[in-house]
Amino acid sequence: MSDWGVVGHEWAVSLLQQAIESGKLPHALLFVGPEGVGKTLLAQTWSMAVNCLAPKAKDRPCGECRSCRLQAAGRHPDVIHVRPEKESVKIEQIRDLERKLALSPVEGRWKIGILEQFDKANIPAANALLKTLEEPPSHTLLVLTAESAESLLPTIVSRCQIIRLRPLPTALVSEALQERWGANASRANLLARLSGGRIGWAVTALENPDFLIHRESFWRDMLELMSSVYADRLAYAEKMRDSKTLIAEWLDVWSGWWRDVLLLQSGFDEGVTNEDKREELGHLASAIAPETARAFLGRLQRVRRMLRSNANTRLLLEDVLLHLPVWQAN
Ligand SMILES: [Zn+2]
Repeated sequence: MSDWGVVGHEWAVSLLQQAIESGKLPHALLFVGPEGVGKTLLAQTWSMAVNCLAPKAKDRPCGECRSCRLQAAGRHPDVIHVRPEKESVKIEQIRDLERKLALSPVEGRWKIGILEQFDKANIPAANALLKTLEEPPSHTLLVLTAESAESLLPTIVSRCQIIRLRPLPTALVSEALQERWGANASRANLLARLSGGRIGWAVTALENPDFLIHRESFWRDMLELMSSVYADRLAYAEKMRDSKTLIAEWLDVWSGWWRDVLLLQSGFDEGVTNEDKREELGHLASAIAPETARAFLGRLQRVRRMLRSNANTRLLLEDVLLHLPVWQAN
């Protein structure tokens, strides 16, 4: 059996392959796991496999038939994608999906609705989808992705087969980055560690040369801000608020460093992610009180979560900056 071109998640791939071979397809699948772990890729490969025209079930998706090629190009008329627009999925998008699902399939056997990041759906949208899940039109399959099942309505979750994707071993991510994406060993190792086992995240970081550049500037900014007055900190909060796309990346990078500071303080050195900054993080670890570091990391993680639910961005960012521990590098 093939691995569907997916790195890791073997059990999930084999479960989905068995469903295709037995012809018993779950009407609704829910892939859950952290951002960048591979949920969307698996959802798309599943969708490709169920409509693939290869005669033998075990060969699907073949990647070569008309249906597979249409899907790979994002032009399959029976596959409807729903993604958050301006940070949320809205009821109009679900209504539109329902209208399209009600029509018979044009090319394939199935009409497939792929709803990405459905934890970002607002309540009316979630309720509308619930109706479709309760009475799905025939020839319809739904696939949802979300960071956690707990972030969805329990009534939605109970109507889906849940596939939980966990982070992959760092060594597997590093190997894949080298073998499939041609990364050199040192970059692959660093990104694999930073990814925390989220292969999609690692590939995006590899293909986005700005990522490591941003990371360096986040580091310089942090050291500078730690010895800065409140006015400078508030100005930084304002600057980050204006560069919306960078906020999540920035909070994740800072969280990673403070997690490492805590690990160094508690002597679990081998868990340190930011290997290239070990020495400098060690200076921080010996200068800052552990309870201060722990409280600040908790704040970073809380703010990251709250920003997902459209909370007041300005207040949250100011809160982070004003609580950044004070420290003067030598
Ligand atoms: Zn095919």
